[in-house]
Amino acid sequence: MSLYAESAALIAPARTVAVVGHIRPDADAIGSVCATVAALRQLGKEATGVIGQPHPFADNLLSIPGADEVVLAGELPDVDLIITVDCGALDRTGALAEEIGRRAETTLVIDHHSSNAGFGAVNLIVRDAESTTTILGRLFDELEVQIDKHIAHCLYAGLLTDTGGFRWGSAAMHTFAAQLMRTGIDIREISTDLLDSGSVHDLRMIGQALSRVEVHQAGEHRVAIIVADHALLSSASISAAEGLVDFVRSLDDTDLGVVFKESAPGLWHASLRSNTVDVSHIAVAMGGGGHIPAAGYTARGNAEEVVAALLNQVGR
Ligand code: AMP
Ligand code: MN
Ligand code: MN
Repeated sequence: MSLYAESAALIAPARTVAVVGHIRPDADAIGSVCATVAALRQLGKEATGVIGQPHPFADNLLSIPGADEVVLAGELPDVDLIITVDCGALDRTGALAEEIGRRAETTLVIDHHSSNAGFGAVNLIVRDAESTTTILGRLFDELEVQIDKHIAHCLYAGLLTDTGGFRWGSAAMHTFAAQLMRTGIDIREISTDLLDSGSVHDLRMIGQALSRVEVHQAGEHRVAIIVADHALLSSASISAAEGLVDFVRSLDDTDLGVVFKESAPGLWHASLRSNTVDVSHIAVAMGGGGHIPAAGYTARGNAEEVVAALLNQVGR
C-alpha cells in the first residue's frame, strides 16, 4: 500500500479529527490546517484546527479561509484521529507535544521537512515536496475530496510561500499551481496578503534591522547575520519579523544568511537560509530542524552568546 493509501485508510474510519499545525505558524502550516479541516468536513467528519501556542499568530495569515476558526490551545479535543501538518518534529506542536506523543497510535503525520524522523502511526513524509499543501493536494485526490475554491486558496497559500514565490521547486509546483488557479482563486490578492502587504511602521523596523547586518567568517563559511532584539521587534508585526531573513538569503560573498529574533528577553528564534549549505544539518545540531535551504532553532542567552554559539557550529 502506498503511504497515501495508508493515510487515507487511517482517515476513513475517523469521525472526529484534530488537525495540528506547527507553532509560530507560517502560511504552509495554516494553509495545511485549513485545507485539511475543510476537506475532512467535506467528507462529513467533525474537524478542528489547533495550534499549540497561547499567543496569536501573524495577522496576515488570517487572510487564509478558515484561519479565524483555528483554535490556540494547550490541549486537544477528544477525537478519534490527530493529523499533524507541516510539523517537522513532535516538539513543533508546542504545548500539544506531550499529548500527541502519548497518542502516537492515533496520529497521522503529514510533512515535508528533511529532518522529520516521523512520530505518528503513519508518517506521510515527502521530503522533496515543495510544501505540505502539495502533499495534501495528492492525498485529497486519494480521498476523493473535491478541491474547491476555498480549499485551493489554502493549498496555494502554502505552495506560494514555501517556494519563496515560485523561486525554487520542481516543474510539478507549476502544474499544481495551474490546477489550483482553475478553481478561480485570486492569486494577486493572495500574494499581496501573504508576501507584499505591510505598514509604514514595519518598514521602519525593517530599515533599522537591515542597517545592523554584519558578515562573519566561520571556518570556510561567510555568514550574514541580522540581530533583531526584543526592543526592535516588540512593536513590529510578526510577518515583518519573519520576512527579514529573505534579505540575507543570498547576499554577495556570503553563503549563509541568519536572522536572530528575540521573541522574549533572552529567548531567540534563529532562521537560517542558504543556497549552497545544508542549513537543516546546522539547525539540527543546534536543537532545531528544517529543510536543506531553510531551517531554524531556538536559543537562549544574550545576543553575543547566541551569535557565537552559531558561528562555532558553522565553523566546525
Ligand atoms: P523559519 O526560519 O522559522 O522560517 O523556519 C525555516 C524552516 O525550519 C521551517 O520549515 C520550519 O518549520 C523549520 N524550523 C524552524 N524552527 C524549527 C525548530 N525549532 N525545530 C524544527 N524545525 C524548525
Ligand atoms: Mn512551516
Ligand atoms: Mn512547509
